[in-house]
Amino acid sequence: MSIYQKRLKSKIWIAYTLLSVIPLLFMVYLASNDSLSSLLPRLNQSFAGRITLLLGGGGLIVMSLAGLMLLYRSVSSIVQLAEQTEQSYSRVVRDDIKLVTGNEVEKLSHYFTGVFQELQHKMEEADKYARELAEANKKLVRLAMKDGLTDLYNQAYIKERIEQEISRARQFNHQLSVIMMDIDDFKNYNDTCGHLSGDEGLQQIARLIMNHIRPVDVPARYGGEEFLIILPETNSRESHQMAENIRKAIQSYPFRGCNAKEPFHLTVSLGVCYYSPEVKDGTELIRYADTALYEAKRKGKNCVALSSRNNSPTL
Ligand code: GH3
Ligand code: MG
Ligand code: MG
Repeated sequence: MSIYQKRLKSKIWIAYTLLSVIPLLFMVYLASNDSLSSLLPRLNQSFAGRITLLLGGGGLIVMSLAGLMLLYRSVSSIVQLAEQTEQSYSRVVRDDIKLVTGNEVEKLSHYFTGVFQELQHKMEEADKYARELAEANKKLVRLAMKDGLTDLYNQAYIKERIEQEISRARQFNHQLSVIMMDIDDFKNYNDTCGHLSGDEGLQQIARLIMNHIRPVDVPARYGGEEFLIILPETNSRESHQMAENIRKAIQSYPFRGCNAKEPFHLTVSLGVCYYSPEVKDGTELIRYADTALYEAKRKGKNCVALSSRNNSPTL
């Protein structure tokens, strides 16, 4: 028998004694010293009256025992609940349960308050983890589409994006251009200043590109020192102008990767192609821009060449 059950037993006996035994003893006392017959003279005189008294007294005993049973069952269920709650409580809440005193109802109230507080704490923690997870997912998505060195988009992303832009241009009859850009003699820069300076040069060139394009444009590092830029809503004249602006910005930028007193000047060659409905897909548009880039290299580098497909006077 647990300490709770022992305590329950004693509590029930006290309640039973107070509610039934003492009133019964009092009645017996009244009956034994003739006080009852003076209080209920008519009942006590006749045989029927004595039977009534006997049945009444028996009924009282039966009812008090039934009350005792009821009391026992209801109180024992509370005690059982308190016992089970205490066991679960110690597993859920890190608290010193031995400090809890008072009756079962007070204990239950204490345990439930503790459990609700713990639940609230856990919900706040779950919220925090959910926010962290969302942040990590954002980072993952970003990592999947960005180039780690320059923070421009990567080749995989821009190849997918160009197909979307082409379908949009085809469906809504929108203008679209692309620029393919390659750093001139970058091997020479690497050889002179070192590979790390070369990396810094690539990062600086990415920043210069960002400074000379619009928020709607999509810049990517397409390969080692090659960049591809999608220019939505842009005709060939405008895209040629944007390519020229980028070229000039890079040409005039003083790269200081070598720690030399004299800054290093890098140049770039750019090929531009304007989308027309005959262009089959993104790969074809990129190929035309690439051909134009080789044309720019052939012309002596540090210049912009327009794709031979864009010779139409309307463009
Ligand atoms: P061209 O004018 O014909 O383009 O000459 P180039 O020297 O730029 O071209 P080439 O293809 O001969 O060399 C490309 C150089 O770009 C060589 C390679 O080391 C460098 N490069 C490519 N990717 C990276 C990179 O991530 N970091 C650094 N530092 N250099 C890179
Ligand atoms: Mg190059
Ligand atoms: Mg190259």
